[in-house]
Amino acid sequence: MIYLKTNEEIELMYLANQLVGKTLGELAKYIKPGVSTLELDKIAESFIRDNGAQPAFLGYGGFPNSICTSVNEQVVHGIPSNKAILKEGDIISVDCGTVLNGFVGDSAYTFAVGEVDDETQKLLTVTREALYVGINNAVEGKRVGDISASVQEYCEKNGYSVVRELVGHGIGKQMHESPEVPNYGRKGSGSLLREGMCICIEPMINLGKRNVVFEKDGWTVRTKDRRPSAHFEHCIAIQSGSARILSSFSFLEEVLENRHNC
Ligand code: MG
Ligand code: MG
Repeated sequence: MIYLKTNEEIELMYLANQLVGKTLGELAKYIKPGVSTLELDKIAESFIRDNGAQPAFLGYGGFPNSICTSVNEQVVHGIPSNKAILKEGDIISVDCGTVLNGFVGDSAYTFAVGEVDDETQKLLTVTREALYVGINNAVEGKRVGDISASVQEYCEKNGYSVVRELVGHGIGKQMHESPEVPNYGRKGSGSLLREGMCICIEPMINLGKRNVVFEKDGWTVRTKDRRPSAHFEHCIAIQSGSARILSSFSFLEEVLENRHNC
């Protein structure tokens, strides 16, 4: 069952997602060599609560923290830890969710820690671009498979592989609603995209092979070949016929740009 949202509900979704964007912006100030992923988690939790919301991930399915922090070969669902200290050249996917006014926001960004090598930087660039390729296909009258196929084609054309085991999703009052939004598939297949649908598009793209391993901690997913993986996620609504991006990278990008200008 796909829950279509009214314009009023989409405004509430926007507020929850903007807060996720602001939280990622706050975290961007602290992502540098020497910081632990658990410190980032605490900063995110405080920031979300200070803004009158709850961390959507905390306790979800028993997840122990407020953000997922997935470093280098970790694809998604990494658990923050005081033993995971970021170092120069790492990449870290931060996935963050909020609940505000009964609606969920969900967005993720993969950050470079200091300078990363050219091969890894290109993986980040292409994965981020693939997200927007998918968003451009999130148009009323197209189908979920059109998003999926476009993301897959863009990434594979660049020599990367697409994770199959984890997918994007519908979102609303629940973090995970129908439909599933895979990052691979066939054009013209899957659910029809309709006015009022809210979905998260979230390419998880590997530099090496697509195969993943589920770690014994019950959460962390990593690449089998231990090569890097990138993850970018926006929450969008189909509104006035096309995709309106409800989440935002502009807060974090402002922080990153100021850092480069120093
Ligand atoms: Mg997410
Ligand atoms: Mg998601």
